[in-house]
Amino acid sequence: MQTKYDYQKMLKSTGLKPTKNRLSILEILGENQVPLTVGDIHSLLARRCRINQVTVYRVLDLLDKYGLVERLSTSSKAAHYALTHPNKHAAHPHFYCKSCGQLDCLSPESIELDAMNLERNFPGKVERIEVRVDGICKKCLKDQGAAL
Ligand SMILES: [Zn+2]
Ligand SMILES: [Zn+2]
Repeated sequence: MQTKYDYQKMLKSTGLKPTKNRLSILEILGENQVPLTVGDIHSLLARRCRINQVTVYRVLDLLDKYGLVERLSTSSKAAHYALTHPNKHAAHPHFYCKSCGQLDCLSPESIELDAMNLERNFPGKVERIEVRVDGICKKCLKDQGAAL
C-alpha cells in the first residue's frame, strides 16, 4: 500500500500552510507502512530536526481536524496515526497486538466490509468506518512460546 503523496499539495488543498513540521510529520507517516504513535513519530522526527512532543501532538491534532491524518484508537492509551486514505472506500481493518502495542494494516478483503452498501442503506451520513481487531501478533506469540 505504498503510494507517493504530494504533501505540499495535500496541505494546500486544505488551506493549511506547508510548514516544515507539518511536512515532516506527513512524510514520516507516508514512509511507514503501519500507523505510528505520537512517541514513534517524535523519535523518528528527532533524528532530523529539533521538535518537542507537544508540537508533534498539536500538528497531528490539526492534521486530523483537516482530515489529512486519521487517529486510530487502540485499547491502550496511545493513539496511533496514519495518513488518511484518499479513497475512503479503501477503508481497511487494523490489527492491534495487546502484547507489543503494534498496530498493523490488514487488507480490505480480510474482513468482509461492505461500505458502499452501508452508505446506500444507512439513513444517516457515514463519515468514517473504523474496524479494529485485537489479539497477539505472530512475533509475540512466538516469543511467548519461547519463554514458556
Ligand atoms: Zn506483538
Ligand atoms: Zn492502515
